[in-house]
Amino acid sequence: MKLLKHISLVGIAVGVLSSFTIAETNVYICKGKYSKKYHYNKSCRGLSNCSTDIYKVSLEEARDLQRTLCGWED
Ligand SMILES: [Zn+2]
Repeated sequence: MKLLKHISLVGIAVGVLSSFTIAETNVYICKGKYSKKYHYNKSCRGLSNCSTDIYKVSLEEARDLQRTLCGWED
């Protein structure tokens, strides 16, 4: 029964890894002077008047930059 134990450990490891993948959400930010928001949707109206390129960053990174969720989205 040693083999069975091993298989279930691998199953746990795979489960942990895949939950990490899900946790990494990407968001879009504008780096304009007055941009303080992040967006889930790249074609969001809050990004439509962005004066710089739109950057794709992780949600964690956006929060590190003191960004808050765009008012057009929930
Ligand atoms: Zn938005």
